[in-house]
Amino acid sequence: MGQATLLTFDDGGKSAMSIASYLEKNNLLGHFFITTSLIGEKYFLNKKEIIKLHERGHIIGSHSHSHPHVFKSLSYQEMIDEWSLSKEIIEKIIQSEVLSCSIPGGDANFDTYKSAVFCGYKYIFNSEPTMSLRALNSTVILGRICPKKGSKYKEIENLSKGHGFLKFQIIRQIKQLIKTILLCIKI
Ligand SMILES: [Zn+2]
Repeated sequence: MGQATLLTFDDGGKSAMSIASYLEKNNLLGHFFITTSLIGEKYFLNKKEIIKLHERGHIIGSHSHSHPHVFKSLSYQEMIDEWSLSKEIIEKIIQSEVLSCSIPGGDANFDTYKSAVFCGYKYIFNSEPTMSLRALNSTVILGRICPKKGSKYKEIENLSKGHGFLKFQIIRQIKQLIKTILLCIKI
């Protein structure tokens, strides 16, 4: 089976416009996930810019409405509200169906996925550093790698070929362990 690298950009910041131009120069397209409550704010995309990105062929998706930092701590109904309002707002702007979303904060529980599926998303991007795809009904759940600023070119090249994920998996596991320990201390 063929392999593709998808480039995704969360939050809907203004930098999306220059990122898009750069990608286009290299014959690439991006996935831009928009936090809809921030549309039109000073450092965020406005409606016209979102339309432009869509018309230029980039994928526009949802990054929730209000960007709750711990999305999985919301109630199921709050999750539905976040996903559905955000989808509705973007669809009204681009006049096209929105099928992708990315989870703010990256952490998810089963309700996070279930609520996004319920709202009609077909592609959910989380922050698990994995290449394996998961499915929930007919929705695909995709992992992602977030290389840090200053990452070596060679490392990015390797990641795009599917190598070097282990380091990211270990870092994520350590981070989650620390979070769990902190949570235990709090309790
Ligand atoms: Zn975000």
